[in-house]
Amino acid sequence: DRIVAASADGEDQAVEAALRPKLLDEFIGQERVREQLSLVLQAARQRGTAPDHVLLSGPPGLGKTTLSMIIAAELNAPIRITSGPAIQHAGDLAAILSSLTEGEVLFLDEIHRMSRPAEEMLYMAMEDFRVDVIVGKGPGATAIPLELPPFTLVGATTRAGLLPPPLRDRFGFTGHMEFYAPAELQRVVHRSADLLDVEIDPAGAAEIAGRSRGTPRIANRLLRRVRDFAQVRHDGVVTVEIAARALDVYEVDARGLDRLDRAVLEALLKLFGGGPVGLSTLAVAVGEESETVEEVAEPFLVREGLLARTPRGRIATAAAWRHLGLTPPPQQGR
Ligand code: ATP
Repeated sequence: DRIVAASADGEDQAVEAALRPKLLDEFIGQERVREQLSLVLQAARQRGTAPDHVLLSGPPGLGKTTLSMIIAAELNAPIRITSGPAIQHAGDLAAILSSLTEGEVLFLDEIHRMSRPAEEMLYMAMEDFRVDVIVGKGPGATAIPLELPPFTLVGATTRAGLLPPPLRDRFGFTGHMEFYAPAELQRVVHRSADLLDVEIDPAGAAEIAGRSRGTPRIANRLLRRVRDFAQVRHDGVVTVEIAARALDVYEVDARGLDRLDRAVLEALLKLFGGGPVGLSTLAVAVGEESETVEEVAEPFLVREGLLARTPRGRIATAAAWRHLGLTPPPQQGR
């Protein structure tokens, strides 16, 4: 339920469809993946065949689902959407695969979370467009080979390294999604504001972009909260002051840190002089579980270069002192 969470909440799911770019040209940022993908798709179109299977890897909220829909749209093909956790038995996968039409795109989100038997069935389906359906149980069980129409699998995973090599190797192309630069997110915010009929000026969009942790999903969510504030407290127009005041209300600071992130950083600086301090001590100081500090707050603090994990414990960087407007103790010289 964090406003800066990268995963989708119910409200996101309800509004995201309207904000999704439909074609590759409308998709902002990710220049490299976009260029690579456009070559793969164009070549397949010219040859009149289904393109190689595509793997998209990267953190949540960067646009993997959106890109899979774009792939289908660019190929003028239908798309079927499912996810690894939804496929627990090989039979679940067989049912989906056997109902695909020629050229269809199958989007498999969180592909690393599929069950082992389903994964093995997928190997054969990807390579030979064929599956063996097991009919019956025990000694009487028989494998009935089933031909599949050529289809394109688009798999998504948070880390390509999580996939077993035999699965990874069956993708012809892997697109690595990166966090977005502030200028790219500013364009995302402008585009979404247009679609939501929100009047916003460039500085207002930049202010939201700067607090969105490199993630379009967060940018769109913050835009909606800023829109509420602008509408209720003002005339609806989003300026830099309105954006900053609205996001201060939601405790998202200028760099995208939320209440928990700041609490961890403040404890590290004010109580422990910038560290080193052990994770469990730091967690007690902020009244949270160690896992919460480690898994929820620290990744972003580390990514931002505000906190470092060392063998002696957590330490704050010079940037952390600057960010909280504090002066490091002189003897530490950080
Ligand atoms: P998850 O893995 O959590 O499902 P995801 O990587 O599939 O996340 P999407 O659902 O595709 O992310 O994108 C989240 C939201 O961000 C969508 O509303 C989408 O419109 C928007 N978005 C993502 N990338 C872009 C982009 N490049 N340009 C404009 N909007 C984008």
